[in-house]
Amino acid sequence: AAKTEERNTLRFYTPMMHASTSRRLLLATELRQALVREEFRLVYQPSIEMRTGRIVAVEALVRWQHPDRGEVLPSEFIPVAESLGLIRRIDEWVMQTACAQIEAWDLAGMPPVRVAVNVSARGFGHTAFVDGVSRAMQQRRVPPGRLMLEITESAMLRMGDDTERTMRALHALGLEVAVDDFGTGYSSMAYLKLPAVAYLKIDRSFVSGLPESTDDVAIVEAMLAMSRSLGLKTIAEGIETEAQHEFLMRAGCNEGQGYLYSYPLTASAIEKLMSPRSLRVPTKLRLVPPKR
Ligand code: C2E
Ligand code: MG
Ligand code: MG
Ligand code: MG
Repeated sequence: AAKTEERNTLRFYTPMMHASTSRRLLLATELRQALVREEFRLVYQPSIEMRTGRIVAVEALVRWQHPDRGEVLPSEFIPVAESLGLIRRIDEWVMQTACAQIEAWDLAGMPPVRVAVNVSARGFGHTAFVDGVSRAMQQRRVPPGRLMLEITESAMLRMGDDTERTMRALHALGLEVAVDDFGTGYSSMAYLKLPAVAYLKIDRSFVSGLPESTDDVAIVEAMLAMSRSLGLKTIAEGIETEAQHEFLMRAGCNEGQGYLYSYPLTASAIEKLMSPRSLRVPTKLRLVPPKR
């Protein structure tokens, strides 16, 4: 939500904000060191095919393992990293680590799932972005079909005219892109026509009201219908209840992610989940107990 708030709201300095401002300053200093000290790690959240319950993809999500604060979530440090100009180095680390993980999983004989990597607006907008992705893929011999990029609408908006050129270059590499958090930014249907865009991710804010909210039902059904007509696949995020699962499955949504199926997991937990005996996620079950 911070992403969209940042653009839409005026912010006034209040005493309430002071604590978070000094926390930000502290985070800034520590964030500079975190890359050097290798304090980042990736966790992976499965994405299941609604029709079959099979795990077809995982989304890489970055975590900062702070020496005394413990785990810091991206919603807290990514905005700071963006304002410090450190986000591109983090994105690069994420891309390299995800590609190395794909290679390691392949060598371990794990079934080939798609791995989705989130890209920040800054990263996506930089001229060196496509080259960096291409290099990371070559270094680890990652076939383009195995890697997917998630880019938010707001990131595409910020890029303006260059968005199409970058998408064309990604498409030429054989990569597919998902429009992340669809419907929460300045939604433009034009993004859905861009080369390389193959998936639309329905934001959790629309999923959480299903199936009770008639507004959310209408919005989600419209998104699904539009995606179908455009030949895009759909992924619903933040599925937490069986009722949400049922609704989305019946409505023809292609894939789903959410705590109902699995929390984000370590790479080795993903390997266990993907072992031949447990290829199918029992969607009626909460698979993994909450971490806290
Ligand atoms: P996102 O890409 O939309 O990722 C989905 C977020 O929703 C993740 O939070 C995930 O843990 C959380 N989530 C998944 N299922 C559920 C659910 O059922 N209920 C609820 N309440 N939440 C759920 P996380 O990992 O904290 O990431 C937040 C955002 O930070 C991501 O949103 C993405 O925009 C950004 N982010 C995460 N990792 C990276 C990264 O490596 N690079 C960049 N540039 N951004 C990242
Ligand atoms: Mg994402
Ligand atoms: Mg998302
Ligand atoms: Mg989201």
